[in-house]
Amino acid sequence: MELSTEVLVVGAGPVGCWLAAELCAAGIRTLVVEAREERAAWSRGFVVHPRTLEIFHSRGAAGPLLATGRRLPTWHFAMGSTRLDFTALPTTFPFVMLYPQAQTEARLEEHLSERGGEVRRGWRAVGLEQFDERAEVRVSADGELRTVTAQFVVGCDGAHSTVREAAGIGFPGNPDTMISPAAHVTLADPPPPERYMQTSEQGLFFAIPLPDGRFVVSTVDHEVMGDITAPWTAETLRASLIRVAGSDFGLRAVERISTIGNSAKQAERYRDGRVLLAGDAAHVHFPMGGQGMNLGIQDAHNLAWRLIAAVRAARKTAGAPVVYDLLDGYEAERRPAGERVLEDVRAQMALVAATGADGAALRDRFEALLSEHPQVNLQYARRLSGIDVRYPMPSSSGGDGDGSADERLGRRVPDLEVQAAGTSVQLYDLLRSTTRPGDFARVVVGDAAPAEHGHEAVTVAVEQVAGPEWALAEGWGMPGTLLVRPDGHVAAITLA
Ligand SMILES: Cc1cc2nc3c(=O)[nH]c(=O)nc-3n(C[C@H](O)[C@H](O)[C@H](O)COP(=O)(O)OP(=O)(O)OC[C@H]3O[C@@H](n4cnc5c(N)ncnc54)[C@H](O)[C@@H]3O)c2cc1C
Repeated sequence: MELSTEVLVVGAGPVGCWLAAELCAAGIRTLVVEAREERAAWSRGFVVHPRTLEIFHSRGAAGPLLATGRRLPTWHFAMGSTRLDFTALPTTFPFVMLYPQAQTEARLEEHLSERGGEVRRGWRAVGLEQFDERAEVRVSADGELRTVTAQFVVGCDGAHSTVREAAGIGFPGNPDTMISPAAHVTLADPPPPERYMQTSEQGLFFAIPLPDGRFVVSTVDHEVMGDITAPWTAETLRASLIRVAGSDFGLRAVERISTIGNSAKQAERYRDGRVLLAGDAAHVHFPMGGQGMNLGIQDAHNLAWRLIAAVRAARKTAGAPVVYDLLDGYEAERRPAGERVLEDVRAQMALVAATGADGAALRDRFEALLSEHPQVNLQYARRLSGIDVRYPMPSSSGGDGDGSADERLGRRVPDLEVQAAGTSVQLYDLLRSTTRPGDFARVVVGDAAPAEHGHEAVTVAVEQVAGPEWALAEGWGMPGTLLVRPDGHVAAITLA
């Protein structure tokens, strides 16, 4: 049986669902195939960072997270006891959100179906072939082998990506040299919340409370972390908790233990012909700081509008060769973003895995940097949160200065409080009601004449930016025109 679509998304994890929802909302024919019959009931991760919340909110998808997620005003770098102060971040979501990944995935699949998308479960991609004008993916489903023809294929199929492998894209990086357990458990005598993260000379312990009273616990145990083939059991976990944290916290039912390693790998390229990669298919690392899903969703948000543009261009010029410039911008922007996260995670792992008195001294010095220098603390908070990502942009002009030096250029526009048509409104709500995924917006602040920037865009008139104060301090209230890309990043600025 043959099927054809404009974009085939392989994998309905959080990244595949977000990408497909954006495509469907823009009217792109999209098929999502997922090997699993059912979504995983248990959660790998919990941490949703501010930029991801901004992205979800910009599409009206953050509601359930904001309603029931747990907000933490601080987060950590390498589990150090000096916390990163997220309350100082210039965002409307100045906190880390704890929300089980299984629930995020359920919400994103719902978001996809609200946009007319559908996940074909039990459909496993097993092979791929590319031609000038299409890609063909072989899919095994219900004991049958089908061929899906698509203009573009996106591998959102996780760390062991079949798509990456079939496209011949290498995945270099370091292999595991240490492992940690991650276990879903019941604790009869859990630590108080301020002791959910603990470091000692033996390693580190952390616990994340689940909404049903259970916990996910993990250790980086200096004594056994290098034994990467040893199986983890309830008893080795208990011994590790006692070694590292001095207590087993009344460890009872151990429902699930998985292991996580410190390998850090990144796809050598994010595109091969008509095949692209996003999420864990493009990069993997130890989940220190809870960044993998966040990074992947930000990949998807960057890729979506480029694919929308590529498919629309192909509709207009059927049979003409694809112009890959726009799609290559995806790799140019997101590969460095991924590299930066991988390097930050490597640095964190080096800090937590350093043993003995030398390790303790190294951690002490790093703690001192974070506690004695608020600017350093803020810089790390910005990096982890995802809000400081800045893409190089070619153009900016106007006013009395060199627009390219404008700090706002290439950054995401925050959710400003604005006056538009005489009413107070949040910018993201205004953009959501006036544009669709795939649309550029020309945000004209004040009574300046709209600048064109040579790009088709929906004009959004704003009389005045009223806040928040940090945004005014960053210059977001300056009269002029901002060309805002569909992913929220500012592509050009003309000052009035
Ligand atoms: C213990 C742990 C804790 C973590 N904590 C966090 C955290 O707090 N915050 C955070 O941001 N990240 C965290 N992460 C990382 C996060 O879980 C991943 O980065 C995220 O799941 C990646 O999403 P994805 O959609 O790219 O891939 P996945 O979630 O792996 O989804 C890939 C999907 O593709 C499907 N698939 C695979 N092969 C095929 C095929 N051939 N055909 C069709 N379908 C296929 C799979 O079944 C799966 O559903 C954690 C990871 C671990 C292990």
